Amino acid sequence: MVSTLLLRGGIVLDTEPEPRVTEHADVLIADGRIAAVGTGLEAAEVVDVTGRIVLPGFVDTHRHTWQAALGGTTADVDLPEYLNRILGGYAPRYDPSDVFIGNLTGALDALGSGTTTLLDWSQLNTTAEHTEAAIQGLHESGIRAVFGYPGRVSATENSRLSFAYAALGPEIAGTYEAVREWHEARELGLPITVHMGGNGQDSAARGLAVLEQHGLLGPETTYIHPNYFTDDALRRIAATGGTASIAPISETGLSIGYPATGRLLRAGIPTSLSTDTVTSGPGDMFSVMRSAYLFERACGGTDFTTRDVLRLATVDGARVLGLAEVTGSLRPGKQADLLVLSTDRLGLAAHPDPIASVVLSAGPADVEMVLVGGAILKRNGQLLHHDSTALRAKLRESARRTVL
Ligand SMILES: [Zn+2]
Repeated sequence: MVSTLLLRGGIVLDTEPEPRVTEHADVLIADGRIAAVGTGLEAAEVVDVTGRIVLPGFVDTHRHTWQAALGGTTADVDLPEYLNRILGGYAPRYDPSDVFIGNLTGALDALGSGTTTLLDWSQLNTTAEHTEAAIQGLHESGIRAVFGYPGRVSATENSRLSFAYAALGPEIAGTYEAVREWHEARELGLPITVHMGGNGQDSAARGLAVLEQHGLLGPETTYIHPNYFTDDALRRIAATGGTASIAPISETGLSIGYPATGRLLRAGIPTSLSTDTVTSGPGDMFSVMRSAYLFERACGGTDFTTRDVLRLATVDGARVLGLAEVTGSLRPGKQADLLVLSTDRLGLAAHPDPIASVVLSAGPADVEMVLVGGAILKRNGQLLHHDSTALRAKLRESARRTVL
């Protein structure tokens, strides 16, 4: 028997082919997938969402999820000091149980804020147990995740989990190691996620030249922090089908560089948004959307709209992760990954343009309900299936042990 769930009478925002609003619409979910969006639909279970905003879950294409206990520890510093503190200072103190609680609570924080898919850019693979703990944390959260890891990893069966190759890349690891990484990723058939272009213009040019000289540019690569690639370099990346992840808050907060949002879009590069780290910013995609929007508008990008930024945070993110057929919009056949926003708060109570309100005014506290693959993971503003009190205690204990 097909199990069906109906979200009845919401203000439905879809993102494909272009962001649009349908008032008083029903979303029908059958066996975890979007079956239809329309009116007068019926189902075995009905949830009345009249007056609330229903939209696809956010896709965060780059998050170091394990850092959940380290919130705010790199405020007021730059990128070299971030690396020094996080990877040099705190990371070595992490045992597998810290990685587990970091990834579980980080993923739950994302879920509770409306992120239904994230790429977990794993940096803490000291031992095989650390890696297993990271995957287990994602698994138990219920989020849809791409685990970015430098190699192949085996994991428990989980239809919501897939893998990417987290490469250090030529700017950090040098030519020889980068060539090895790309060849290994291609042998494994994995997409590549790499931090490139965020270490100044010379480094960006040298790094890209290494990939070009070895014939390694391709559609499987996502460039994180591509701030310093020239427009010409971006055109060359676009020609090979490469994609991008912008983290507007860490890029500005850590003085990495100005987010390249408009230049990426003009170059025709599939572009997405990411939270990166909670050590220098918030972990929710509302803040990220708002920041991306405002930074782009601030430097004269007046044709960059709230609709554009909603696309980047949903359907374009799914495309960048290779999940365009899986998530990111309410197209029938896709997984039912979506959120319902309360409009009770006075700042959201009137919403003549619901897309503008979501991008400019909404926040994690407005997220009333979250579904991943049709499963309700948050309801009435509360995460289900987890003991929040116990998780808070464990996270604080981990912070006490690791942040000295
Ligand atoms: Zn990063």
